[in-house]
Amino acid sequence: MAVSSRMPSQPAARGLLRRTPPRILPVERAPGRLALAVRAVSGSPGPGGSPVPRRSPAPTSAPSSASSAIDFLTLCHRLKTTKRKGWINHSIKGPESIADHMYRMALMALIAGDLPSVDRERCIKIAIVHDIAEAIVGDITPSDGIPKAEKSRREQAALDEMCEVLGGGPIADEIKGLWEEYENNSSIEANLVKDFDKVEMILQALEYEKEHGKVLDEFFLSTAGKFQTEIGKSWAAQVNARRKEGCKKQK
Ligand code: ZN
Repeated sequence: MAVSSRMPSQPAARGLLRRTPPRILPVERAPGRLALAVRAVSGSPGPGGSPVPRRSPAPTSAPSSASSAIDFLTLCHRLKTTKRKGWINHSIKGPESIADHMYRMALMALIAGDLPSVDRERCIKIAIVHDIAEAIVGDITPSDGIPKAEKSRREQAALDEMCEVLGGGPIADEIKGLWEEYENNSSIEANLVKDFDKVEMILQALEYEKEHGKVLDEFFLSTAGKFQTEIGKSWAAQVNARRKEGCKKQK
């Protein structure tokens, strides 16, 4: 469930995207190929056996690539500053950001340990990109009344823009693939990370209930019975049991 605040139109981000010219020459998008190309010209014998002088890559290559990386990371800054909307809707002061939420999900994937037939590294990667499009579209929640298909379309377009800022290439394609896998719930890793998304949210809800003296039932009700994996079910049960225990102590 999306929780953080939706941002308005975000002209700055769009300006950034429009400004960004294509920066990376095709050969630079494949570091392995570039390395091979450089190796091939460095110190290899030239005509008559004399070594060919070392040739640096074209002067624009490294700065261009660095420029794309920093543009992308600057865009991702919004993930750190955009607060999750569900908490804002419940008047939680100083709530977590989208990045906070994704970071703890990545930790969940890390500490879950090795599960049968599950690629843990892939889970960590999915966790850190699954809400990345929110850097542009913000956090769209059910309270916004936007149909699921339209939400997905906006996020897909945002993701495409972000990958363009990154300069395209295999890493951008990987990010897109990971995001789509999560969006379509199309692998065991995506199933698991979807469960972590909900566990992270109810754990955060429990923490806010304790810190702010609130009752945040809706987060527990909306996730009940929706966990797909054994570890998701057991971690959610643990959070719910602690909540019940806390309620008993208060009485
Ligand atoms: Zn999430």
